Amino acid sequence: MVIGTKLRKQLLLAFTAACIAILSAQTIIRHFWILPTFEMMAKQNDRIDIQRVESQLQQQIDALSKMVFDSAAWDSMYDAAKNRRTAWFNNDYVIADALERLDVNGWYLYDTNATIIGGGSFDNNYQPYSPDILEVPQHLLDNDLIILPEEIIAESKAMTSKIHFLKINELPAVTVAYNVTKSDGTGSPVGTLLLWSFIDKEFIENLTPGLADDITYYQGEKAQALNAYITSFFGHENTVNTPIEHDKKLYIGVQDKHANLLFVLSIPMRERTYDRSLFDSSLITGLLISGSVFMLFYLYINQQLLRPLSEMFVSVSSALNHKDFTVRAEYKGDNELHQLGRGMNELFMLIETQRAEIKERHEKLRHISNTDAMTSLANRRALDTHLETLANDPENINENVSLIVADIDHFKLYNDYYGHDQGDKALCKVAQVLKAFTKRGTDFVARYGGEEFVIVLSNTDAQAALAVAETLRKAVESAAIVHEGRKDVKCVTLSIGIASKPVSQQFDSNTLFKQADEALYQAKAQGRNCCVLSR
Ligand code: GH3
Ligand code: MG
Ligand code: MG
Repeated sequence: MVIGTKLRKQLLLAFTAACIAILSAQTIIRHFWILPTFEMMAKQNDRIDIQRVESQLQQQIDALSKMVFDSAAWDSMYDAAKNRRTAWFNNDYVIADALERLDVNGWYLYDTNATIIGGGSFDNNYQPYSPDILEVPQHLLDNDLIILPEEIIAESKAMTSKIHFLKINELPAVTVAYNVTKSDGTGSPVGTLLLWSFIDKEFIENLTPGLADDITYYQGEKAQALNAYITSFFGHENTVNTPIEHDKKLYIGVQDKHANLLFVLSIPMRERTYDRSLFDSSLITGLLISGSVFMLFYLYINQQLLRPLSEMFVSVSSALNHKDFTVRAEYKGDNELHQLGRGMNELFMLIETQRAEIKERHEKLRHISNTDAMTSLANRRALDTHLETLANDPENINENVSLIVADIDHFKLYNDYYGHDQGDKALCKVAQVLKAFTKRGTDFVARYGGEEFVIVLSNTDAQAALAVAETLRKAVESAAIVHEGRKDVKCVTLSIGIASKPVSQQFDSNTLFKQADEALYQAKAQGRNCCVLSR
């Protein structure tokens, strides 16, 4: 397990959740609040733009209307209509140049039966032209172009007008008609004055003089193809729908009185100051920024929090699981965790020092408890432990083990003669000799008690043990520790009993001791300063 994984996971989870929450909130605000508001404002502007075009179109129609109105409420016109003065209307009133200058295609004066009194038309090339719809009475009546006497009475107004969008010669056109009256508004109905004009590109350009390409004009098939994108209809019934964008433009349709589409005007849709893709990229940027900030934040938290914690976790785990207080980390930071880490290092150091001291003391105590203070040889307790170890070693069954018991001869007399202190010194000398002549690593020399020594020889058979015993005996004799208290020889000697465990026999220290003791007894009985091997 990686140290600190849980905490890391929890922190990652918390940070990720925070990031998701922030981004979600941003997205929701953007989607349900900001974008709809922008959208609404833009649509509002679109409607204003459409209304501007419509009002410009209306103004142009109003200008034509005013022109017809001025001439219709004129005594000379009234007189011409009443007295059918065709020549006056054709020659004095309608002037071809003026028509061209005003971008108007024709003027007509009709009587109350829709019969022409005077007037005429030109086509778009200003060639004389006779549109049936404006010259055949039945057509005029069918298309509701002139003002009938009953309509004036019904309206109960001096002036009644009719403005129509319609097709003349398959091209969109507008007609403006007023009933002819005296300038003071009196007199019986005498007829209708009508002016008409094709609605073509030139007509539309006049809506916004100087602003080329502001409004685009479509008619015929092109206009029909745009039907689906029209926001506002003008002419038949003025309706404004939600702005529909097509080709970055907004469309206004102009209909005749039967709601047939005559022509379409378009204006460029205003550039959106916002963009969904802009929002999307801002979202991605937001994600990247928050990701980077999160990474930096994580690195900071890792450095300041997770790393010291992780290091401490390693140290404590190692101390708890393996009693190892040597694992330490470097804590370079300055926050409480780093301070805690450094404190823990010091604490571990203290524990380690104390453990070393305790171990040393323990070693010393163990040594003391296993050592004979006077001779520095192993003591009885150490011997017991050694014998127990041998007894518990399963390998021992295949090996010879020999036990030597050595006892100083007539030592009581030595004490009696030299005193106890000298006796102790002699004991130490004998011990040194014994130690010096048992060199093998597996040889174990102990002071068994009083002036008696035991030597355990592992992996040594009876004969070899006898040889070692003899060597020791001779060595002590050769040491020539003077013993004037004796009556026989005048030096310190040893009597030695040896017992041996043959291969394939279970090791039993009691038995070996007993046998060695018996052999020692025999050695004493045989006159001392000799070795006896137990048989
Ligand atoms: P033997 O040859 O039969 O062994 O005669 P011995 O005198 O050595 O035997 P005994 O058992 O009668 O006496 C042992 C003596 O060893 C008694 C005691 O004065 C002496 N002795 C035992 N331990 C010490 C010791 O630690 N220091 C001194 N100086 N003498 C000791
Ligand atoms: Mg003795
Ligand atoms: Mg003795």
